[in-house]
Amino acid sequence: MDGSMSRVFNFSAGPAILPETVLRQAQNELLDWRGTGMSVMEMSHRDKAFMSIATEAEATLREILRVPPNYKVLFVQGGATAQFSFVPMNLAHGKPSADYLVTGFWGRKAAKEAQRYGRVNIVAQPEVFTAIPARDSWSLDPQAAYLHYTPNETIDGVEMHEVPDAGSVPLVADYSSSFLAHPIDVSKFGLIYAGAQKNAGPAGITIILVREDLLGHSHPLLPPVFDYKTIADNGSMLNTPPTYSWYICGLVFKWIRDQGGLTEIGARNQRKAQRLYDYLDGQDFYQAPVERSARSRMNVVFRLADSALDADFVAGAAKAGLPGIKGHRIVGGMRASLYNAMTEAGVEALVDYMKEFVRVRG
Ligand code: PMP
Repeated sequence: MDGSMSRVFNFSAGPAILPETVLRQAQNELLDWRGTGMSVMEMSHRDKAFMSIATEAEATLREILRVPPNYKVLFVQGGATAQFSFVPMNLAHGKPSADYLVTGFWGRKAAKEAQRYGRVNIVAQPEVFTAIPARDSWSLDPQAAYLHYTPNETIDGVEMHEVPDAGSVPLVADYSSSFLAHPIDVSKFGLIYAGAQKNAGPAGITIILVREDLLGHSHPLLPPVFDYKTIADNGSMLNTPPTYSWYICGLVFKWIRDQGGLTEIGARNQRKAQRLYDYLDGQDFYQAPVERSARSRMNVVFRLADSALDADFVAGAAKAGLPGIKGHRIVGGMRASLYNAMTEAGVEALVDYMKEFVRVRG
């Protein structure tokens, strides 16, 4: 294949940019995975070859995230949205209520879905999602089945930079858009879930880390394919898993390890976000609406002073090889997603484009 083929800096919120080396490896192995004479896509999930791919992916994930031994790692289907239902069905059955700290669109959606299965206590929820509600305004319930929150709100560009202290209440986090973006202390959480299609791999697979003592208390009507205990007992292979997505995730985990692990990835992500926010704060053609202490390192939301220029800005960016910059329709404006595979050169190219746009249209 033509090695000179040019790739764009894809700023899409997800499915999103993947490391080029991962894509090239997948390309090299596409027709014949390590002498098996078949593609990973064509393998039985019970085959020794695929079992080794699956086991290695989990082992690498455990290594880079330092997952403690009393946590199960699950690979499931249904996206993070499915977990909005399966978290309460697995963890809240027989409990008086569940706590939801809402800091953006996705957390609000998760809380709404959980209300179908039992009582939900909204710990805090601001009118507009541009800051994290002050800690002293939260109403935590010490009897709650769990405390759910969204560390990074993908649409609003709001990130909670500290892990909330839930006391003895298990902490549940929808890490979809900041999973593997920096080191985290898994032991602080009861359960973490993340759709893969931002930092971990392609769409179609969701990764769950769950503390073992939380397994086995699910709602009796929960189908076994969605019961964390049944999934864990069957090594995420109660039925056919999304094998190819699992394989690509494994390659991404290794790529992270090869880059120097999550400490290095986190430092890079910090520099990328800082570069863009510094530029945004240093001029007044563009505005970043999120309060500084709550700004996302992954999804940088900003607006143009004149929204009549939005369409031209987006079209010009795509033409310059910077697609995916349009904000979510609910928030409007722009959103630059800076996931792990986005390089510092990509951010530099975006800032250059933004400067040039101001020069010509400002
Ligand atoms: N939670 C968050 C934080 C997200 O960013 C997304 C997707 N953008 C979702 C949940 C929903 O994910 P899915 O489409 O995989 O169901």
